[in-house]
Amino acid sequence: MSDAKSDANSDAKSDVFFLAEFAAGAPSHAAQELASGAASLAKQSGGSAVGLAYGEGAADGAPSLRTWGAARVLVLGTHAVPAITHAAAVASALRDGGVALLAPATPNGRDLAAATVGLLGVPAFGPARAVRFEEGGLKVEASTLQGAWVTISEPADGAPTPAVALVLAGTFTPKEGSGTAAVETAETDDGPLGAARIVETHQEGKAAVNLEEAQFIVAGGRGVGSADGFTQLQQLAEALGGAVGASRAAADAGWVPYQLQIGQTGKVVKPALYLAAGISGAIQHRVGMQTAENVVAINKDPDAPIGEFADLFVVGDLFAIIPKLTDEINRRKGA
Ligand SMILES: Cc1cc2nc3c(=O)[nH]c(=O)nc-3n(C[C@H](O)[C@H](O)[C@H](O)COP(=O)(O)OP(=O)(O)OC[C@H]3O[C@@H](n4cnc5c(N)ncnc54)[C@H](O)[C@@H]3O)c2cc1C
Repeated sequence: MSDAKSDANSDAKSDVFFLAEFAAGAPSHAAQELASGAASLAKQSGGSAVGLAYGEGAADGAPSLRTWGAARVLVLGTHAVPAITHAAAVASALRDGGVALLAPATPNGRDLAAATVGLLGVPAFGPARAVRFEEGGLKVEASTLQGAWVTISEPADGAPTPAVALVLAGTFTPKEGSGTAAVETAETDDGPLGAARIVETHQEGKAAVNLEEAQFIVAGGRGVGSADGFTQLQQLAEALGGAVGASRAAADAGWVPYQLQIGQTGKVVKPALYLAAGISGAIQHRVGMQTAENVVAINKDPDAPIGEFADLFVVGDLFAIIPKLTDEINRRKGA
């Protein structure tokens, strides 16, 4: 069935909404993932994928969300932060129904999802590593601290809709098609949350590639030993076109800002390559990176727990290995 036909036959109560953040007129990678995820869920629910777009250039870029599967897009506003200022518009868009709202598990996604749940009193799930329809109902899968366990949850019978699912990066794969989504502008009644303002901003360290969207992550732990030691990891990350991450031990030591922390109380990442240097592999770290496609660990202790789940475990001193690796990558790039 063509998209146009399926849109015409769709039932608004079965729509699957998703949050789509824009920067410079382009949807974030998370928005592309959620658009494709919403489109595939909407096929099962009998509705359409509907984007709720916000951020710089959202109005101009909104039609492009069709490329990843959105049938319609409602533009909430052209600023990304504070994200909660869009909550009243999101709640208003959802009042007529829909089965699910997919929100990215990013700082802005979390803010907006939480405020929406508060305004509408709808159930919330996640951070999810899978969202699907099964036997006509929405099922949300989340991994637990132990890593080996998952919980599969669903809204209770008769619960208000739509359910909100906070979705981890990499849960859905963006699928590119073509076409232009129908675009509307949201009602502008901001409500009390619309009064939130940013009064000051501070930058901690160098602006870096967004960890949650990075395809290559070079993460350092206590074994890196100092803030200076992280310079070598930064050089390798730059050579790879990736981002630097850290264990909590490194963030607690003040060597890197907390926004680089990966794990249970940090970020959850899903890069193509996760290179862990001087990280032992504690379970609280593992839950933040176990969804990486390939894990390479450098550790001087052959018995470090990370060796049990790394795809490639290099036993050695990170300070002897990382600079050579960086030089070799730069040499090959230059070749
Ligand atoms: C409630 C709770 C929440 C937590 N949340 C998080 C979280 O979100 N993220 C997180 O990371 N941790 C978290 N932790 C902490 C976690 O339990 C570990 O303490 C932490 O992950 C250890 O960090 P690390 O691997 O860098 O340090 P360590 O465990 O001390 O490991 C350092 C490693 O570096 C190796 N090493 C040392 N020198 C070198 C060298 N020159 N070359 C190569 N290898 C070297 C050592 O052999 C060792 O394996 C949490 C803990 C609790 C209780």
